[in-house]
Amino acid sequence: MTRDTVRCPDSSGLHIPEALYDRMLAHCRKSYPDEACGLLAGKGDRAFDIFEMTNTEPSPVSYFMDPKEQFHALKVMREKGLQLVAIFHSHPQSPAYPSPKDVSLAFYEEAVYIIVSFVDREKPEMKAFNIVEGNIEVRELVIG
Ligand SMILES: [Zn+2]
Repeated sequence: MTRDTVRCPDSSGLHIPEALYDRMLAHCRKSYPDEACGLLAGKGDRAFDIFEMTNTEPSPVSYFMDPKEQFHALKVMREKGLQLVAIFHSHPQSPAYPSPKDVSLAFYEEAVYIIVSFVDREKPEMKAFNIVEGNIEVRELVIG
């Protein structure tokens, strides 16, 4: 993984501890060549916890997050006083950029959408976006 997504921490980036970052990558690698998905919980612009979700419609080009798991994860977050800060999934074959389907299914305007691309399997690329009313805005990721 190159760290070129890590920029100056004074920007409005999402902070992800290294351990969570590693778990996110490992979860995505496990599903390869299919897409993987999951959630990050935290507060404001900091992620504290990861929920690895099941892709119930395994495919190399799309994912469908198990609604029951998702419901449960959101409940656990509420109980812990945490918010949904990010929704992540992998792109085994395409760049780290939201697909038209990703955009049309982006219902959480507050959440950061993280995409992990394995176009180069040796150097996965992780990028983050806000998707609001069909508009894609790049967000910084601060790992560590
Ligand atoms: Zn996607």
